[in-house]
Amino acid sequence: MSTGVHRFGAGLAEGGAGDAALLGGKGANLCEMAAMGLPVPPGFILDMDVFRRWRETGTLDNATRAAVSNAMRWLERETDRVFGAGERPLLVAVRSGAPVSMPGMLDTILNVGLTEAAHAAIAARDPRLAEDCRRRLLPALATSALGVDVDDLDDAVDDWLLAKGIDRIEAQDAPTLAALNAHMLDVVEEEGDAPFPETAEAQLFDVIDAVFASWNGHRARRYRAAQAMEDGTGTAVTVQAMVLGNLGDASATGVAFTRDPSTGAPRLYGEYLLDAQGDDVVAGIRTPAPLTEEDAAATRSTMPPMRDVLPDAFAALAAHAATLEAHFREAQDIEFTVEDGTLWLLQTRAAKTTARAGVRIAVEMATGGAITRDEALLRIAPGDLEQLLHPKVDPAAPRRVIARGLPASPGAVSGEVVFTPAEAEALSAKGRAAILVRVETSPEDIHGMYAAAGVLTVRGGMTSHAAVVARSLGKPCICGAGDARVDVQAGVLTGSDGKPVRRGDILTVDGTSGEAMAGALPMIEPEPDAALATLMGWADARRRMRVRANADTAEEATVARRLGADGIGLCRTEHAFFQTGRLAALQQLILSDTPDARRRALTVLLPMQRADFTAFMAPMHGLPVCIRLLDPPIHEFLPRTEAALRDLARDMDISITDLRGRIEELGEFNPMLGRRGCRIGLLFPEIYDMQVRAIFQAALAVEVEEESAVDLEIMVPFVSTDRETALFGQRFEAIAASLRHESGRMPTWRLGVMIETPRAALRCDRICEDAHFVSFGTNDLTQMTYGLSRDDTGRFIRDYIARGGLAHDPFHQLDVEGVGELMRIGVERGRATRPDLTVAVCGEHGGDAQTIRFCESLGMDYVSCSPYRAPAARLAAAQATIAQEAER
Ligand code: PEP
Ligand code: MG
Repeated sequence: MSTGVHRFGAGLAEGGAGDAALLGGKGANLCEMAAMGLPVPPGFILDMDVFRRWRETGTLDNATRAAVSNAMRWLERETDRVFGAGERPLLVAVRSGAPVSMPGMLDTILNVGLTEAAHAAIAARDPRLAEDCRRRLLPALATSALGVDVDDLDDAVDDWLLAKGIDRIEAQDAPTLAALNAHMLDVVEEEGDAPFPETAEAQLFDVIDAVFASWNGHRARRYRAAQAMEDGTGTAVTVQAMVLGNLGDASATGVAFTRDPSTGAPRLYGEYLLDAQGDDVVAGIRTPAPLTEEDAAATRSTMPPMRDVLPDAFAALAAHAATLEAHFREAQDIEFTVEDGTLWLLQTRAAKTTARAGVRIAVEMATGGAITRDEALLRIAPGDLEQLLHPKVDPAAPRRVIARGLPASPGAVSGEVVFTPAEAEALSAKGRAAILVRVETSPEDIHGMYAAAGVLTVRGGMTSHAAVVARSLGKPCICGAGDARVDVQAGVLTGSDGKPVRRGDILTVDGTSGEAMAGALPMIEPEPDAALATLMGWADARRRMRVRANADTAEEATVARRLGADGIGLCRTEHAFFQTGRLAALQQLILSDTPDARRRALTVLLPMQRADFTAFMAPMHGLPVCIRLLDPPIHEFLPRTEAALRDLARDMDISITDLRGRIEELGEFNPMLGRRGCRIGLLFPEIYDMQVRAIFQAALAVEVEEESAVDLEIMVPFVSTDRETALFGQRFEAIAASLRHESGRMPTWRLGVMIETPRAALRCDRICEDAHFVSFGTNDLTQMTYGLSRDDTGRFIRDYIARGGLAHDPFHQLDVEGVGELMRIGVERGRATRPDLTVAVCGEHGGDAQTIRFCESLGMDYVSCSPYRAPAARLAAAQATIAQEAER
């Protein structure tokens, strides 16, 4: 069995950068730096196997203890010092380091080995240094290894400082620090589970246990839960000779980035503190100083930059930073310490940057030849691009969060709270921003959503009506904010803190984080970005799959084109019916039983739809346009209020009683499984006939205007059988023929269907005898496969996931195993019938990178998503192509 202990330092490295899974990220990179001959204090790593053995018993086994002791003897020889003893005692830093970085979440303990003897030896030369090291070790070791409560110890220290009239510990002289240390030791002896360990080895083993145990501490568990990280991995531990940044004015500690992490500008950026140890910079007790004059100007710091104060150490840092970036081929985040003028590197890792900086760095590194274009494309998380296109809340702004929900549509906006679509319209007509707050939204609210600047709903999931519409409009939206209560009548939103937000109060909706906040928070606007344009050009050249947009209006189609969509993959035609004047005509079409009345309604609707479609197709000329016929359950279009009922009865010239009777006849227990989708088309044929005629006429008009053919696709929703498909094919062909007869012209078009029921996926072979393309409506297909209502899950899905019933929200992240299996079957069977079948996804998953990767593996032709997600989808498609090629 390997001992699990790996040494590094002065040219020796028992591991390297590729060993992060075994040594943790920190340990692996320390080995790499040592092998590169960079100034790294020597040390050794207890690897992940040691952690796994430790976890079984909560302590190190004897063999590992022996290996650690041997490694300590080696370290003593390397440093020419004795651990915890001698004239210049060796002290060590014991650092956590997991394979995946968890910044600041796990324990790190410095100055281990500071025994009484070591303390005395150091004090003989520098009494203040000895006390300063002890006042750092004592609380760290006591709270992590001896069970002393952090808050209790902090309180005890604060009381003592208060009684002595001291406000800054770090400015105190040796006797004061010594008195504080004595007081802390008393508290520790009283509160601790065991006496403070006074031998160096005992300290070391206690601290190693504590660092391993910090993997399961509150902080780490909460962080992993928030980041959806696995709990199982664990952490490695690095034991490393201390270098002291607190030796006086020629010593310091700091952090440097090889590029500016907020802008990506190629210059050394960072902070340092004179006469300090590593944790001081992170802890924020003292304000660090800038590294360079440029940083000083940018942060308006008046403190002298490191370049002036420690010029030699700065020069060494700049040189090593350049070496590290060139070696790792990635911007680095480096921790360093200067001990009496000598620079030491304590850590390097890939820098975490803003999305904007990440894009710039990737593009500049590829342009400079450090990485390939493919590598640049793979480095950017597609979801991060959304950050670049939407305004966001200034992260530094203080906030009062009043409700949390699903981040349903990214971006942030502030406005006045309204509770009805009519109020939203009225407010926006006055040029004021409205935040529409609803329990849930229905298609009838659509005009309110158009008018609102942002939306908050208490119910609904990621594919609920509000979410889908908001994303397509590019409006910030939070859905399923279940901890808030809405009383529409009273005009009050009650936040999770119990405080009311009333009609007209200002609310900020952050659809990127899912937080609603009281008041108007400062925003950061996105700027046009040259690096992003370059990256998108590379993505477009590289991707195999096309990316179309889900857009319903001419405005959305224009945005889609601007954001690089390759056409329209889904135009939900129902939204047009909720505009003034149209709903009544549609209601008459559905509810009247005389041909005359229906004809009257059609004469109203046809020209309106024709005008809609003409405006819609124009911005997309030259690109494919896929228009879906009416889909929602008919009850969504029926009048709900008494007043609406009365108006409609008058328009239709029938009694209210008769009208009510007719509506009751149409009532359904489960409308989502009733007269919806293509069933409307079969049961109320005039509706689809009218839509198809309007679409054809619009295409002809646009062809004349743009002098080019419209690449037209007509899509039927919610089919289950080949019979349905064949019937529609014949019917629409007949309309086309009649048009040719009337006008002498006929647009070319293709018939396709949405695969939204499991049966449709299973019988795709038969369905594709008549369908030329299929588009998976993964919203409904997920709903139908799980039997899980897409409109209701928002209320319980988080709870359900927390209880372990689901790993994730299948409306958010495609269920590859179940829904994906149906898709695979559908694609295979459809293509068996029709080898040139066009296959796509147009559910909300179409904008998600993992789904796009899956679609690439199925050889799909395109994905379709909200216009604002198109750039992210284009990048994800390029990444999918690269990954797929690598797999082959
Ligand atoms: C779907 O079901 O995935 C789809 C795109 O249709 P809609 O969301 O309009 O039901
Ligand atoms: Mg659907």
